[in-house]
Amino acid sequence: MADINVVLSGAIRDRQALELARSLPPSSRPPIDLGSNDYLGLARDGALIEAASRALRIHGTGSTGARLISGNLSIHEELEKALADIKSTAAALLFPSGYQAALGVIPALAGGGDLIVSDELNHACLIDGCRMSRATVRVYSHNSLESARSILADRRRFRRCLILTDGVFSMDGDIADLEGLAALRDEFDAWLMVDDAHGTGVLGATGAGSVELAGVASRVDVQMGTLSKALGSSGGFIAGSRVLIDYLINDARSFVYSTAPSPASSGAALAALEIVRREPDRRQRLSDNAAYLRNGLRSIGLPIAAGQTPIIPIVLGSGEVVMRMAAELQPRFGIAGIRPPTVPQGSSRLRVTVKATHTREQIDSVVEAFDVTLRRFGLRQYVLDGMAIA
Ligand SMILES: *Cc1c(COP(=O)(O)O)cnc(C)c1O
Repeated sequence: MADINVVLSGAIRDRQALELARSLPPSSRPPIDLGSNDYLGLARDGALIEAASRALRIHGTGSTGARLISGNLSIHEELEKALADIKSTAAALLFPSGYQAALGVIPALAGGGDLIVSDELNHACLIDGCRMSRATVRVYSHNSLESARSILADRRRFRRCLILTDGVFSMDGDIADLEGLAALRDEFDAWLMVDDAHGTGVLGATGAGSVELAGVASRVDVQMGTLSKALGSSGGFIAGSRVLIDYLINDARSFVYSTAPSPASSGAALAALEIVRREPDRRQRLSDNAAYLRNGLRSIGLPIAAGQTPIIPIVLGSGEVVMRMAAELQPRFGIAGIRPPTVPQGSSRLRVTVKATHTREQIDSVVEAFDVTLRRFGLRQYVLDGMAIA
């Protein structure tokens, strides 16, 4: 067989030929950050840094083992209680990351003979969790209850049935129709799982997320989230009934066989949840800033869909156009170009995210930079002609 480096560099060249090769962006932080998921501006917050330091001093740098062996720390249990509280569930369970939460929970809940009904724009970790489950996976058109319903017509041929959706879709920033999905769950005797990575800390009266916003907490069987976005830390979690959590402690392999989260990340997340609880005006500022930026981008002719989350996709269709724009906007604003396979063919986009801590002047400066860049590249007409949506 050929040398590994020869084979792999050929594969990289194939990607480059399709203009789909990726490389790491600069590791330096942009002066104004409109590319991260740090929606509440907590990742560098003094209270989180202090809480993480305290956790380090008390518990050490590493948790030394899986939760079931030597890694179970009081700070994990305290954080799980706080997560269950904000999610209005009986219990919660930490995972090393959101990705691993999905890989653990989906195969634990569904297997051969079961049906998973999954939104076509669900996050990659849900897709991979489905693949690992060996269940029959049927994908419905994005946010279409009608499409989901037509799949559910077959439900009786299967043992268990799991409806799977993002709460907030990570590349589009739109919100799942959770009320409608909860009704399908009831009608078809299914379980509903919501991955609220981007809603947690952001949406709902108390910041619990999209499930709270839709008022369906009692009908969502599995609530998944991450500590790595609005909560400014890292790690994933599942919130649900005590029985669900007891079951996952036994059956979710990514929980059982992976080292417990680091004390520092759990300490930071606890401090973040306290801020979410105590400072609702952060959510208000975030939502005001998102509206202000959407309006600003619209005012220069960009195609911006209505939305109420901090994720603002600027769909420009062509991957090449997107990467030229990103090269210009990344150094100053951290704005990344997103291409297939992360998003469907022909829907390459710039993904702009706003924070609660941005000032109006900072938001004005990004709108101005978009305007200048579009003009400089002669793309204004391309956008205004509506060629934008491929
Ligand atoms: C980021 C993200 C995840 C993964 O969470 P990590 O903690 O970063 O692994 C899962 N689902 C969605 C929808 C996400 O956006």
